[in-house]
Amino acid sequence: MAPERTGPVNAALPDLRDLDVLVIGTGAGGAPLLARLASAGLRVAALEAGVRHPPSGIATDEVAQAGLFWMDERLSAGGDPVGFGRNNSGRGVGGSTLHYTAYTPRAHPDDFTLHSDTGQGVDWPLTYADLAPYYDEVETFIGVSGPAEYPWGGERSGPYPHPPLPVNGAGLLMERACAEVGIRTSPAANAALSRPQEQEGFGLRPACSNRGFCQAGCSTGAKASLDVTFLALAEARGAVIVDGAQVVALLTEGGRVTGARFVRGGREETLHAGTVVLAAGAVETPRLLLMQGLANSSGQVGRNFMAHVGVQVWGLVDEDLRPYRGIPGGLISEDTHRIPGVIGGYLLQSLGVMPVTYATQFARGTGTWGAALTEHLRQYRHVAGINVLGDCLPYGHNYLELSAEPDARGLPKPRVHFTFGENERRMAAHAETLMRDLWARAGARDVWALPRAAHTLGTARMGHDPRGSVVDPWGRAHDTPGLWICDNSTFPSALAVNPALTQMALSLRTADALLSDLRPQQVTA
Ligand SMILES: Cc1cc2nc3c(=O)[nH]c(=O)nc-3n(C[C@H](O)[C@H](O)[C@H](O)COP(=O)(O)OP(=O)(O)OC[C@H]3O[C@@H](n4cnc5c(N)ncnc54)[C@H](O)[C@@H]3O)c2cc1C
Ligand code: SF4
Repeated sequence: MAPERTGPVNAALPDLRDLDVLVIGTGAGGAPLLARLASAGLRVAALEAGVRHPPSGIATDEVAQAGLFWMDERLSAGGDPVGFGRNNSGRGVGGSTLHYTAYTPRAHPDDFTLHSDTGQGVDWPLTYADLAPYYDEVETFIGVSGPAEYPWGGERSGPYPHPPLPVNGAGLLMERACAEVGIRTSPAANAALSRPQEQEGFGLRPACSNRGFCQAGCSTGAKASLDVTFLALAEARGAVIVDGAQVVALLTEGGRVTGARFVRGGREETLHAGTVVLAAGAVETPRLLLMQGLANSSGQVGRNFMAHVGVQVWGLVDEDLRPYRGIPGGLISEDTHRIPGVIGGYLLQSLGVMPVTYATQFARGTGTWGAALTEHLRQYRHVAGINVLGDCLPYGHNYLELSAEPDARGLPKPRVHFTFGENERRMAAHAETLMRDLWARAGARDVWALPRAAHTLGTARMGHDPRGSVVDPWGRAHDTPGLWICDNSTFPSALAVNPALTQMALSLRTADALLSDLRPQQVTA
């Protein structure tokens, strides 16, 4: 079983001399790579700012679970300032996957060729075919549940490893309404088990019990957060994860990155390694690089910040939907993957929602407070939600910079400038019209829309050209020996799908490239 501990860090550091690779961050980017490198016999360790949150310590209580999120202040600017805090990223062994909703669709082949196809956006320096074997491997290893035949996207080598999870109340309404207007739907791919699965380093993960609290952490291990999957494997294969260790600087010698300085339990410590992989997410990765002027000969660090179009539409229905029940995203449609008059497109997902989250969104989104808010919330069990996940083009006007305001450690807070472009506005309008129509057909009343941006992407993009990108197509920093980057910061464009599965697949691909660079000198198995 994975170590059982939640809370402050006091354990002494083990001896971590002669590390081959040091990974910073244990989310969707850091974890699969850590497991791959440990399995290949390398001496590897990871520094993680957050602590461990084992399933047994997860409470069925949204408020108590706030510790899963990165709550340090991040400054927002621009026409559509990004809401951070809980709509942000994770902090803990497993990163944002501790609280992710576990939607795991694959990117489509044409997501990687947007510029070639439309003249706008950018192409990825890799193809769907390059990632397909890694998608297969991740889906099998973490145990994705989904339909036998998925109607959209690229070729698959086989069905999902587990049958789909039950569709929740909102999903059943969405299915009916979509059928009326000829939109195809399908059970979604979710990184949660519809039947038990043995996981090396963790033990038997049970099937999902449909308690619906995925965004507050899964207390059983049914959800494939990385602590119960790739990180459990990594530790079983010899990797060391140092939790509560926030990196404050990278160490360099003669232009080469050689390790990291971090704060743990109030003390500053250092670790050295032959190679450092920065996997701290699309805000903390560029922040660390900008603080030291590292890997930025292209001037691209912090540039092209992207966030998905994430409009939600909510309404009240007569049925008792129990919106807290079931995997939140049980039903999907990708019929809107490409829509006329817009570059890119979006997917439609059914929503489940926990009470505090819904109350907060409703109050902020509609400006309803006091007695009117209380009255509305009496109808919580009749709330039906649907949302979209839409592409976002990279723009020069969206970027992350260091502010002059220091955080509690005296380090500059990051400031993110974000304004949707005309393309994203058209996409959001198209999506809102469609979702309102669907909810009208489902008999919903008091329908309201919440315009949203979701996920943090870009800021250290990958590409072939060192003048226009920070890392090469495998994650090596173009201009800084010893440094690799493996997280959502490397996304050149946003993709019209949720990012975690693609990130995990990229992580294995980066690990294979790193291994082939290090072989034969360092790989012992
Ligand atoms: C509420 C919410 C729901 C989501 N749901 C989905 C979903 O259903 N499907 C999907 O595909 N995606 C979802 N996502 C997005 C998904 O979780 C991310 O795309 C993915 O986890 C990003 O991986 P990453 O490795 O870039 O960063 P993360 O997973 O955030 O990992 C970064 C890690 O680095 C650590 N770190 C940061 N700075 C430092 C430092 N200085 N020193 C040491 N450690 C550091 C952090 O603590 C964190 O653990 C969701 C995101 C949110 C916010
Ligand atoms: S719905 Fe399933 S995966 Fe999500 S928290 Fe509950 S048991 Fe875990």
